[in-house]
Amino acid sequence: MIITIDGPAGSGKSTVSRLLAERLGFRFLDTGAMYRAIALAVLRASAEPANRAATATAARSAQLQFIEDRLLLNGEDVSLAIRSPEVSAAASIVAASPDVRERMVELQREVGDGGSLVTEGRDQGTVVFPRAECKFFLTASVSARAERRVRDLQQRGIVQSLQEVQQQIQDRDQRDEERELAPMRPADDAIILETSELSIDEVLERMLQLVAECNGRPE
Ligand code: C5P
Repeated sequence: MIITIDGPAGSGKSTVSRLLAERLGFRFLDTGAMYRAIALAVLRASAEPANRAATATAARSAQLQFIEDRLLLNGEDVSLAIRSPEVSAAASIVAASPDVRERMVELQREVGDGGSLVTEGRDQGTVVFPRAECKFFLTASVSARAERRVRDLQQRGIVQSLQEVQQQIQDRDQRDEERELAPMRPADDAIILETSELSIDEVLERMLQLVAECNGRPE
């Protein structure tokens, strides 16, 4: 069974997707981390994220490996490095490149071939796994998302103002929604959950009920 969870930054999707996978005993795929790793490779090569040739080279040559909660880029643990605000902004630019998307989609489908999976991103229900048994799209108000993001960053030792984070989120959403290829949007058959007023536990419980309804019972 494949469960896709798409939605914008700060919608709660990362935390809830991991917890859902844990509760169901499914594998978990964070596809945003993959785009972030390519962005990091591009920045480290001192190239522009919008440079199509440079991003294509980075996407082709990057070896990505998930080991539990950690992501390795060419053997190096980049789990923390990919969470910086610079990488966040570059990721949504790199993610508009057709070459990068083609490679990422290929890798994501290979993971999907391995059996039951909870996968989160922007295009998992629309493009990567259009036949997934259960699709979610999580949303929340920009202010709720910015507040969550600030807390998240604080836990990682990165201090940013609410205003700054809100602006970054809005810029990123706009790029993700307006790009030509695989824009962020709910699949026609996705269940839309508005999470502004809900706790993580409430979202998780609601999703567990809905997953059971998606497929009789989860495998
Ligand atoms: O989810 P996260 O914030 O880590 O994603 C970083 C960026 O990667 C997003 O802003 C988006 O541009 C891109 N992305 C994407 N498709 C996905 C996952 C992420 O375009 N499936």
